[in-house]
Amino acid sequence: MKLEQILFSQGFGTRKTCRILIQSKRVNVNGALCEDPYSDFEPNGMQFSVDDEIWQFREKTYIVMNKPAGYECSNKPKHHTSIYTLFPSPLRGRNIQSIGRLDEDTTGLLVFSDDGQFIHRMESPRWKMPKVYEVTTKHPVNSDRIAALCKGVMLDDEPVPVAALSCKQLSDCLIELTIGEGKYHQVKRMIAAIGNRAESLKRISIGRLELPKDLAPGQRRFMTEDELGLLK
Ligand code: URA
Repeated sequence: MKLEQILFSQGFGTRKTCRILIQSKRVNVNGALCEDPYSDFEPNGMQFSVDDEIWQFREKTYIVMNKPAGYECSNKPKHHTSIYTLFPSPLRGRNIQSIGRLDEDTTGLLVFSDDGQFIHRMESPRWKMPKVYEVTTKHPVNSDRIAALCKGVMLDDEPVPVAALSCKQLSDCLIELTIGEGKYHQVKRMIAAIGNRAESLKRISIGRLELPKDLAPGQRRFMTEDELGLLK
């Protein structure tokens, strides 16, 4: 694959921009300067740097983040900063998207990718991918309310009750709620439906993937093969 095409595929701008980057001696490949945009490389396993920042060629990209509060999962945010401002421009240039959205004030596990098929499958309601949230409530939750969440509660605009896949009490005002769908503000609305209020929400897992312990709020990294395997 031509170097210009490789940089283009990795989000470094238009083909012309990539060509100029290379001709301006800003690109190294596998440790050596390369000034020819048309030189051929095997992209798989290739390491390159642009302005001394090292990148690994990735055909598709899969990223895991511990979402901090205060960011909207949108490229056109209305009231807060876009979560995409936390990414360097080549990743934004690849049009990565979050898999589902978390509210501005929700924290925790969020996955991003530019693999359309993967995104589609992860978001498909058919798979009912379980998502687990730790919810801090304003008022204590009793066992009757836990049972109601598991049996199903009525939400505005939903014709049938919406039930949690499971719900565990962790302390008086802290529950672990697992849902299979991703309806708009679903957890907050379910908690409101039992006469309570979600004060804070943290997603701790999606399917078999747990929020990695090495990620502080706001941190992200490329997913390992093992992590990806837990979702695929
Ligand atoms: N449910 C909510 O209410 N908010 C979220 O961010 C995620 C699930």
